[in-house]
Amino acid sequence: MLELREISKAFGRKQALSDVSLALQPGECTGIIGPNGSGKTTLINIILGLLRPDSGTYDVDGIPFATARTSLLRSIGAVTEQPRFYPGVSARVNLRFIARACGLVSEKERIETVLKFADLSDHADRVYGSYSLGMRQRLSIAAALLSDPQIVIFDEPTNGLDPEGIRLIRTKIIDLKAQGKTIILCSHLMSEVQQVCTRFAILSEGRVLQTATVEDVIGGKARTIVIAATNLEKLRLHIEQKEIGQITQEHSGSITLKVSDKIKNHELLKQLVDSGIEISSFAPAPTALEDYFTSVLSAQ
Ligand code: ADP
Ligand code: MG
Repeated sequence: MLELREISKAFGRKQALSDVSLALQPGECTGIIGPNGSGKTTLINIILGLLRPDSGTYDVDGIPFATARTSLLRSIGAVTEQPRFYPGVSARVNLRFIARACGLVSEKERIETVLKFADLSDHADRVYGSYSLGMRQRLSIAAALLSDPQIVIFDEPTNGLDPEGIRLIRTKIIDLKAQGKTIILCSHLMSEVQQVCTRFAILSEGRVLQTATVEDVIGGKARTIVIAATNLEKLRLHIEQKEIGQITQEHSGSITLKVSDKIKNHELLKQLVDSGIEISSFAPAPTALEDYFTSVLSAQ
């Protein structure tokens, strides 16, 4: 577990972070979500030992960073906004440089493992300079994983990527989560966080405004679902009879439904299918968390 306690950092008169406390669990992806300038990268740089906080401490599995800096840094890998690789040499050679600089043992095997994980095995001998943006980002992931770190940090990993590139990064984060890694995903996009994170913290002007689980926000409160069915009449009757929620719109084959109770999406879907309703699409409104994020920020 990575635990941050009351971390503060100022740049001159600019207070970039104020008393940030967070606990990050293995096997979970925690989103740190906040607008540009809210302090996300500053926090990551502190975790990576690149910046010293003015006050506050953090520890990994109970070991304070200040007392075991070198060994703890090996347990942290980061995919940051500006990766630095040599453009004139291949991806494999770039990884070899990094592995040697970190003093990795059995580097050869490890390099092949991380290349494979990043889907780069077939392109590993191409010079880095010829890589697409998506491949560059995947090489950053490979490099971050070289020391097989327990904690993996992603700082705005999909900036500038096309949808396919974004999807690939997302599946890699999900794979790492399944391996039991402790993952931090910094983003200014709630939709990105929503897709992979179980838990998130909203950062604004260097303060944590709120921490919550995604389930708390979209599971517990009223939310919108758009459902399309072959027989819309049957669907409408079922919703009304079972008092599932409030129909706010009905047109061209779909019903927009506000679900007010604590019923979970998968339970509702199962209930509809079990009642013999042919569902052709079931779409929880993707904007639920985005709206929430905006409302928390604007309540400031
Ligand atoms: P984010 O990653 O959320 O966009 P940053 O952590 O990069 O935010 O920045 C937080 C605030 O700290 C911003 O106001 C930024 O201008 C300021 N800041 C960050 N790094 C420095 C620095 N090295 N010197 C001066 N100000 C900085
Ligand atoms: Mg940043």
